[in-house]
Amino acid sequence: MKVGILGGGQLARMLAGAGIPLGLEFTIVDPKPDACAGALGQLVTADWEESAAIEALAGCERVTCDFENVPAAALEAVSRRTTVHPSARALAAGQDRLAEKRMFESLDIPVPPFAAVSSRPELLEALERIGYPAVLKTRRMGYDGKGQAVLKTVEDLEPAWQALGDHELILEGFVPFDFECAITVVRSAAGDMRCYPLSRTVHHDGILRLALAPAPAAEVLQAKAERLGRALAEHLGYVGCLTLELFARDGRLLANEFAPRVHNSAHWTIEGAQVSQFENHLRAVCDWPLGDTAARGRSLMINWIGHMPRPEKLLACRGLHWHDYGKQARPGRKVGHATLTEADGQPLDKLMGELVSSLDDQSASLLTGLMNDSA
Ligand code: AMP
Repeated sequence: MKVGILGGGQLARMLAGAGIPLGLEFTIVDPKPDACAGALGQLVTADWEESAAIEALAGCERVTCDFENVPAAALEAVSRRTTVHPSARALAAGQDRLAEKRMFESLDIPVPPFAAVSSRPELLEALERIGYPAVLKTRRMGYDGKGQAVLKTVEDLEPAWQALGDHELILEGFVPFDFECAITVVRSAAGDMRCYPLSRTVHHDGILRLALAPAPAAEVLQAKAERLGRALAEHLGYVGCLTLELFARDGRLLANEFAPRVHNSAHWTIEGAQVSQFENHLRAVCDWPLGDTAARGRSLMINWIGHMPRPEKLLACRGLHWHDYGKQARPGRKVGHATLTEADGQPLDKLMGELVSSLDDQSASLLTGLMNDSA
């Protein structure tokens, strides 16, 4: 079967990596000629709405996306010609942070206090109600901490307004979370649903750096997170994998946002789960039975941001699996990841301890913090 993917980044690359052994072939559409998924399929270099893109995708039996900001018009044009999962409606639901928060509320998914902001008086009014600290975010196109500013005191108001005031905005209460976590749900067209174990996530400068799964001591939160993720997938009539990003505070969960696609917080599933999020997304999209989402043991995923570290030292670490996306190095860019899984009968904590000395200072300190925190 031929599967088309809108977007040719690392998510498309890992989807193709999971789909090729299943006998799937991939057509990947991306405006950039060096899109890294091109190494694993036929790359069509075109803008989303160009007829070359639409025609190439219309020739596939199934079409999916590797990012959520695909223009709705492009997706609708493709949907008229072939089967697209997730639907244009599901993608649109995550494209506007304000509509997304309102949808969460309507589904009884708890969220931090929030308010729409489209003028300076509205911002002052919202701050009056929500108070400091708060986070000002663009409603659209923000990701990896881009398009947002934390307002700790009134001093932060002016610079934040200068940076973001040209956009439609949302103000959210800053959540003093105990930790962040994410639940990935896969749903088939027939409504079969499975959830992966909760990932405990660590962000730095708004970018995901570490994911530990199954999240330590999280049995109660797992059940709560599953209920929220399932309600969302059911509401959207969703087909494929989606991830709901959550803040945990005093045993409660608050939703931050959801991603209608495979997600960085579940990359550990490649080696760490019975069937990975990438394979399960494709199984759902192709109308095949879903696979087992259970963990094989505990896993830790580390993102490589900006540049790939030298593999020689790290690959000598027991239980380490290496992923180089083949992307140009650039500050803040996700260029690869590694997943540590239990090996040689050793518990993950011991292997994490061994790994620390081979990491750069920043990754080592984030990992040490996580280990202390979850001990
Ligand atoms: P986002 O782009 O909304 O996924 O935000 C990126 C990261 O910024 C989150 O994973 C959190 O670490 C932090 N963040 C975003 N919104 C909030 C909030 N309302 N309260 C506390 N931290 C936040």
